[in-house]
Amino acid sequence: MSELHKFIFEGLPVRGAIVRLTDSWQEILRRKQDYPIAVQNLLGEMTAAAVLMHSNIKFNGSLILQVMGGEKRDMSPIKLAVVEVASDLSFRATAKVVHALSGSESFSQLINAGNQARCAITLDPEVKFQGQQAYQGIVPLYDDQGVPLESFAEVLEHYMLQSEQLDTKLVLAADTDMAVGILIQRMPLKGENNLAGALTSTENEDQIGKNEDFNRIATLTASIKREELLSLSIEEILHRLFWDEPIARYAPAQPAPRFHCTCSRDRVAKTIRSLGQTEAERMIEEREGIQVNCDFCGQLYNFDVIDAAMLFMPASSVVPPKI
Ligand SMILES: [Zn+2]
Repeated sequence: MSELHKFIFEGLPVRGAIVRLTDSWQEILRRKQDYPIAVQNLLGEMTAAAVLMHSNIKFNGSLILQVMGGEKRDMSPIKLAVVEVASDLSFRATAKVVHALSGSESFSQLINAGNQARCAITLDPEVKFQGQQAYQGIVPLYDDQGVPLESFAEVLEHYMLQSEQLDTKLVLAADTDMAVGILIQRMPLKGENNLAGALTSTENEDQIGKNEDFNRIATLTASIKREELLSLSIEEILHRLFWDEPIARYAPAQPAPRFHCTCSRDRVAKTIRSLGQTEAERMIEEREGIQVNCDFCGQLYNFDVIDAAMLFMPASSVVPPKI
């Protein structure tokens, strides 16, 4: 069973969450069995991270985490990796692999070999008021000195610090059976993160003490090994790391994280319409219809010649007008 548990450290300004995706992660791999191991593991890490990040914010809508390869001369094997998580923690994920792998690629060679890749986090509200756009944050794949970051966890830690001023520790691991992640975050202090919130000297001393708490817990968190993350239960991991810390746990997230694809025939129809009638007609001629496979779940949507022609009829000739 996939699970997500949140916890706090009592009396300390530090909170955390741990996610362990098992059946839901296996379902993603079952639907697309051809990922090379390195790609599978990276997509699993991204999925665990995206579920953790959505569980960490109050937001009614989808969180989309994506990495897009560069256009020209980019030899990264991964052209695109996308994870989408809804408010109820249902999620889907997919990656597009365009080059063969040697198996020994580093994180940046996998995804940013040409130094042109872009990574973004999008928050897409479920209900948009008129004219509202989704929020998109650009996530650098390099540190402030331009040195490539060497894991997806580092990329997100760097982003959280730069864009949200939030100290974050992330550990991520994935294999064929599961995707696991732990997120530890220093909670923002009152008055922090806004221009009027300059700290007084006593508050400043206070903050230094609180940073020490965060640093200690972050160091503990980083001490867990990949094999431990992928073999221990959530109880065992939390005990192994925080047995000597004042940890208080919440009930597991309900509903639990699970695989769910949001594709539908209607959405595919909309995409075909957006190609324009000329392009659609060309596709119909070539294959006697239009066949579209969902990149996320593999579902086949088939529009035969008549279905496809209907897509471009004026609405009034398809639906009888109301009298
Ligand atoms: Zn789908």
